[in-house]
Amino acid sequence: MSKRDYYEVLGVERDSSEREISKAYRKLAVKFHPDSNPGDEEASQNFKQAAEAYEVLSDQEKRSRYDRFGHAGVDGQSNQFGSAEDIFAAFGEIFGGGGGGGGMFGDLFGGRGGRRNRRGGDVRADVTLSLEESARGVSKTLKFERRVSCDTCDGSGSTPGSEVAGCQQCGGRGQVLQSAGILRVQTTCPVCRGAGKIIVDPCGDCQGQGQVSKPVELDVAIPAGVDDGMRVRLAGEGEASPDGGPNGDCYAFINVKRHKLFHRDGSNLILQLPISYTQAALGAEIEVPTLDGPDKLKIARGTQSGEVFKLPGRGMPSPQGDRTGDLLVQTYIETPKKISTEQEELLRKLAELEETEVLPERKNFLTRLTEYFATSE
Ligand SMILES: [Zn+2]
Ligand SMILES: [Zn+2]
Repeated sequence: MSKRDYYEVLGVERDSSEREISKAYRKLAVKFHPDSNPGDEEASQNFKQAAEAYEVLSDQEKRSRYDRFGHAGVDGQSNQFGSAEDIFAAFGEIFGGGGGGGGMFGDLFGGRGGRRNRRGGDVRADVTLSLEESARGVSKTLKFERRVSCDTCDGSGSTPGSEVAGCQQCGGRGQVLQSAGILRVQTTCPVCRGAGKIIVDPCGDCQGQGQVSKPVELDVAIPAGVDDGMRVRLAGEGEASPDGGPNGDCYAFINVKRHKLFHRDGSNLILQLPISYTQAALGAEIEVPTLDGPDKLKIARGTQSGEVFKLPGRGMPSPQGDRTGDLLVQTYIETPKKISTEQEELLRKLAELEETEVLPERKNFLTRLTEYFATSE
């Protein structure tokens, strides 16, 4: 039995927006909900179909696969590799340098160990790559804002030449002792916020903060092999320290655009390739795309739907540069929906021949079927 088209099930156009799709689904879900149609088998079927259609069409990844491959693109076989979510959920770890201390946007606790030499804050920059760019590595210009020392006051926060008073609360130390029960805890001075001094005449350009936000353009070499969700750390490219400490870091967050043909799975690439029944049965040499251009793939005689062929070394490099993955070509057999009279005649002849010869999988199935009926009596 052929499955109904998902767009038809939801009664929406093929180019419908996500909102239209979810609206159409909600309407059907209410209409066919089992609670309002008790014992109605048809309503129950419709409810299930709508849910299935919505599951696929509401997911961009599945929807585009369905658009390209129909039900074959989203049923059973394709799940062998998991969905894109599974692939990308394994978040890449920071690379490009260990150490450094302090997590992303660190310094949550302000100056660790006194008011001197606090590290500047970390900043985030987003960078979007094509799959080809992530395969080969690419130079990108990152644009982001970061706080830098104010030029006018040289970072002091005071109008040049004006007076700066020592903080009386902490005696210029920036820290005060507080009693908490029997404990005495040293904390940042609430009056001068750790600076140890009070600005009498704040610098007009930075409002007394000593720092200003500035747009930056930074050219960065993104290494080959980076995957979606990874971060590249650019040491020292973050915000300036408020008091002469080291700069924070900049983290480039990698976003790899979805490719029209390939799915990435670790260092492997996956290509779903429709083949005809005759190609599957007779074997064929088929031109397949790779990231380095077209290549020839030999499909063996008797290829099954879902069978995977490997093109070694045609996948993605690892970010560490120590290996390159493979291109995995997964075939699926596309059954023609329309055939000519001549094709039909030939297929009928073939069907007659098939009656005299049972294929091994079919034979195996029939044996199990017989056994099942024999034991279920
Ligand atoms: Zn200033
Ligand atoms: Zn103070």
